[in-house]
Amino acid sequence: MSNEVASKIIQKALDEGRTYLLEPEAKEVIRSYGIPTTNFKVAKTPDEAAKYAEEIGYPVVLKIVSPDIIHKSDAGGVKVNLKNKNEVIKAYNEIHENVKKYKSDAKITGILVQEFCPEGREVIVGMAKDPQFGPALMFGLGGIFVEVLKDVSFRVAPITRYDAEEMIKEIKAYPILQGIRGQPPADIEALIDILLKVSTLVIDHPEIDQLDLNPIFAYPKGAKAVDARIILSKQ
Ligand code: ADP
Ligand code: MG
Repeated sequence: MSNEVASKIIQKALDEGRTYLLEPEAKEVIRSYGIPTTNFKVAKTPDEAAKYAEEIGYPVVLKIVSPDIIHKSDAGGVKVNLKNKNEVIKAYNEIHENVKKYKSDAKITGILVQEFCPEGREVIVGMAKDPQFGPALMFGLGGIFVEVLKDVSFRVAPITRYDAEEMIKEIKAYPILQGIRGQPPADIEALIDILLKVSTLVIDHPEIDQLDLNPIFAYPKGAKAVDARIILSKQ
């Protein structure tokens, strides 16, 4: 059974001829499935960004919102750990300049203001459609573990709780999540929960062609998706 919030956001994008959901849209979709993510607001002016930062509480993160920019940091479109109004206004202007330099004709929808999340263990949950098997869920640790070592696990959705637990435990880097050198363990239950909810989301919404929660910060208690990317199939 698909959920109405997600259906509306997806339909709106498709009606506008877009297959890439903007980060605020993707985050609303995952939040509507109970996946924990950052709060946020979309600002259209530097003053508005400063006002939202005040409401959200410092420190904050500013990010480009553009249908033409999929990899935001590549475009100089992400500024983290901004501690006051001056830093927010400076970051707002810098993001605009960087993005213009990166892609001069990029349409800028606004600037996303969101809470800055303290560092946790970085994990990635993804989904890509396999032509033969359908929606394949992926789990791995962020950074070099996925990019260089390809230390990831896969299951075809829908998955059971047992599948989710196996996905997490079978990666080679699992001991890092358990906590090494006196670090507390990451909240495995919270990660299982996210995997199950992503599974439900992609089964409910076959229009989703690709999904990336990269990164999710995993904490001793809880986990939070700080970035969310959803690509829809061309209809
Ligand atoms: P993209 O993947 O499009 O380049 P992200 O939204 O993933 O952009 O941001 C880039 C990096 O900035 C993330 O990998 C993460 O390390 C950091 N980051 C993003 N959002 C937050 C946040 N809300 N709190 C803390 N760090 C963040
Ligand atoms: Mg990212």
